[in-house]
Amino acid sequence: MFAPRYIRQYSTYFLCLYAYCLLLPAVLRAQNPMTGKNLLDKQKAVLQIMPYIPADPSHQYLPLDPRTAPILPANGALPRPPFAPRQHEQNPTGGLLRQTLRDELGMTHQRYQQTYCDIPIEGAIYIVHADQQGRVIAMNGNWITQPNDAPAQAKWTAEQATQRALDWVAAQKYREYANTGLVYVPASPAQASNSYENATADLRLCYKIDVYATTPLSRQYVFIDANNGEIVMRLDRLCSGNSNGVAQTKYSGTQPIITDSTATNNYRLRETTRGNGVYTYNCQQTTNYTYTDFTDADNLWNTVNAQQDEAANDAHWGAEKTYDYYLNIHNRQSIDDNNMPLESHVHYGVNYFNAFWDGQRMTYGDGNGSATALTCLDIVAHELTHGVTEYSAGLYYINESGALNEAFSDILGTAVEFHTKPATASWLLGNEIGATLRSMSNPNAYGDPDTYLVPIGT
Ligand SMILES: [Zn+2]
Repeated sequence: MFAPRYIRQYSTYFLCLYAYCLLLPAVLRAQNPMTGKNLLDKQKAVLQIMPYIPADPSHQYLPLDPRTAPILPANGALPRPPFAPRQHEQNPTGGLLRQTLRDELGMTHQRYQQTYCDIPIEGAIYIVHADQQGRVIAMNGNWITQPNDAPAQAKWTAEQATQRALDWVAAQKYREYANTGLVYVPASPAQASNSYENATADLRLCYKIDVYATTPLSRQYVFIDANNGEIVMRLDRLCSGNSNGVAQTKYSGTQPIITDSTATNNYRLRETTRGNGVYTYNCQQTTNYTYTDFTDADNLWNTVNAQQDEAANDAHWGAEKTYDYYLNIHNRQSIDDNNMPLESHVHYGVNYFNAFWDGQRMTYGDGNGSATALTCLDIVAHELTHGVTEYSAGLYYINESGALNEAFSDILGTAVEFHTKPATASWLLGNEIGATLRSMSNPNAYGDPDTYLVPIGT
């Protein structure tokens, strides 16, 4: 928000608008080649070579020599050893072909579900990769080579197991629930995640029950031991649970927001419906980004308190609305036009009266007594626009280019405000926090010049 004096001096020549903004060190960091764009380039490179490097260090990925690689069997059978996971000679395991994908490089990827006595083993998946000629060149996955003897018959009925799962979830209302069948579950998660080499496991025969509850919201697979009714495991199905929340904002009344449902009665200020997501974190008054999530139990974010936690709702909603403005009005997908995640940090430092973009994220202070938290909509859009400028014009934050940089943030910040809440929008910047910083219509009113080459203060 706050800019050095020489930038203020030039900025009005262009636009009769100017601003205080990023602290210079923050801007220089933003323009350092190690930030944003470089990271994106690195990500692309990683994606390109990903098929040839291990998915993790646990020796699960076997790159094979294409000159000696076998051909992928056309009948969907697993390739013969040694190009498939070794199996214990007498054990009745098998691999069911579940999925065949052909990618744009012409490679084929076949996904096998391991079975024991024709019953699937939960989490035991093996993937075989073939090149354009159908030669197997790599494989990876989890495979249990030596399952210990496991019960093949269920003592409990599916109905009993389903009721057991419902009793355990104990929701007030259900949308649907169903027994999806019998599976084997490795007795401990550690066994399930072993490398296929020498992976032994005790298997438990379980019913896999899908339970979808609406009050409170949850969806999960519950694994019930088919012989004694024990709860063996649960798998959450709401892994990116975008939920419609309602926020009591500090400066813009009650507004709809999207949040993330992480568990029953637990929501946080994250969402993935816009580009690669909008994430709003609690800096906890630190300056080293030691952050946590803001959370709420019922997704009705009436989080007003002395610490101004409600200011986070403004930052979250403001980032969502600024994303929408750029997409709908300028056909731009987020800061980098490639759906860069929008990350905001609230409660930065103690009595910190500033807000800034640092090349990666927006950061907001709580104000200093004479002003409240700097998360009103025009400031949020102002900071986010600095990111847009960095990824488009790349205006250096010095002299005339710096003045233009500031002016664009003020202009777009005000445009977002008028677009999003026209009834109360104003030409004043930051007036909602109790300390108006600038006037777009009368710069002199706040000590700023309105023509080029007029020294500040006259
Ligand atoms: Zn600024």
